[in-house]
Amino acid sequence: MKILSGKAVSKHLRENFKAEVAELSAAKGRPPGLAVVLVGDDPASQVYVSHKIKACAQVGVRSFEHRKPSELSAAELKQLIEQLNQDPQVDGILVQLPLPSHLHQEEVLSWISPLKDADCLTAENLGLLWTGRARTRPCTPAGVMEILKYYDIDPSGMRAAVVGRSQIVGKPMSLMLLEADATVTTCHSRTKNLREILLQSDLVVAAAGKALLFGKEDFKKGAVVIDVGIHRGEEGLYGDVRFDELEDHAFAATPVPGGVGPMTVTMLLANTIALYKHHMS
Ligand code: NAD
Repeated sequence: MKILSGKAVSKHLRENFKAEVAELSAAKGRPPGLAVVLVGDDPASQVYVSHKIKACAQVGVRSFEHRKPSELSAAELKQLIEQLNQDPQVDGILVQLPLPSHLHQEEVLSWISPLKDADCLTAENLGLLWTGRARTRPCTPAGVMEILKYYDIDPSGMRAAVVGRSQIVGKPMSLMLLEADATVTTCHSRTKNLREILLQSDLVVAAAGKALLFGKEDFKKGAVVIDVGIHRGEEGLYGDVRFDELEDHAFAATPVPGGVGPMTVTMLLANTIALYKHHMS
């Protein structure tokens, strides 16, 4: 089985971004800028934000960190986002999710200018993606597509199944595979005969968010298995898939950790650079 290393793909892409950012910064007089807004003290969010800030530094993107207490009011957050929308040094804005429960996610995301929407979460940018005119792309599914490209796995003509229909992973994942000419089935918690569908699929993206839910018996021999799940256990990170069972069964699969995870941050850099180019053109 071929191991699809998101870590290796990330390294390759970040090296390219670093060279591109150095060249563009010299030509345009400033580097791309990403503002990262974190409200509250959720431990997982703290880790994700640190990874994002570190990745920016690695490729020469300037980051602006805004850590705010969990009591921050909606009006204060709106004011901060509006200020970032106006800031000429800031090309991308990322509001780390989940937000504390008194802040309404959809409303907060609607305050971000679509021209600075580094995560591709605004209705305008999702609409552009849907109509084939993407300005940016949701990071996790975009990362999956980059892994497939790097390893020369062409989804065209494949039967693909996506398990999960969330706004940030499942739905855009199905759309991107469709764009790549796969025949896509989007599965979810109400899907009947899930295993039957998976067993007919050449490519499966598991994004159900259930630790070690899928094993060898769920996949056709020779399938490509992409595991988006991330679960923290006592012995480290796990995915939705029992990776060890796939060795003599799948054609290729992503491990956890080191698979899709690092790609999400890398595609955030890709979106920030794309927005910067748009602002500077
Ligand atoms: P979510 O909870 O919003 O969505 C899960 C989806 O899976 C839902 O659509 C649900 O209907 C479906 N589902 C749940 N149980 C199912 C089952 N037994 N059978 C079939 N479908 C089922 O989660 P999400 O935000 O889309 O994230 C999914 C997973 O991916 C989580 O583990 C999350 O931590 C991980 N994630 C990873 C990255 C990354 O960078 N690798 C990024 C985002 C999310």
